[in-house]
Amino acid sequence: MSFWHEKSLLEMTSEEWESLCDGCARCCLIKLQDDVVQYTSIVCQYLDQQACQCTDYSNRNQVVPTCVHLTPSTIPSWLPISCAYRRIDEGKDLEWWHPLVSGSKDSVHAAGISVRGKVISEAHVHPEEAEEQVIKWIEF
Ligand code: SF4
Ligand code: SF4
Repeated sequence: MSFWHEKSLLEMTSEEWESLCDGCARCCLIKLQDDVVQYTSIVCQYLDQQACQCTDYSNRNQVVPTCVHLTPSTIPSWLPISCAYRRIDEGKDLEWWHPLVSGSKDSVHAAGISVRGKVISEAHVHPEEAEEQVIKWIEF
């Protein structure tokens, strides 16, 4: 049995908690919120799009106040259904492409789950053009 089978989110060590992130960077996409949340293909300017990793992770909530800070008691419903935190919170297992299952950080990219190659930085998009960038390929 693996730790995510045996422990709740609350029971995980900080190392286990961090390792649960699959590295998809879907949560770094800019979202529009009216009555409903809509994902766009615009991504936070602090994301390294090739690695799908934050370039200022330790300061992320200072540099981007709206950056989501996940805790075991705050798993937002707008997270993609693929998100490991959401899946475990809902009693589901990790998918085959999750690095903890596959043993490789590349599998999340190979499976087409990560945002690599699909996004544009917010630094290159005028805010008024965000609605034109709404995407449908993320289920949440
Ligand atoms: S959507 Fe979930 S699994 Fe993907 S990068 Fe964000 S926190 Fe990690
Ligand atoms: S600050 Fe970092 S973790 Fe937060 S949305 Fe931007 S790239 Fe993602």
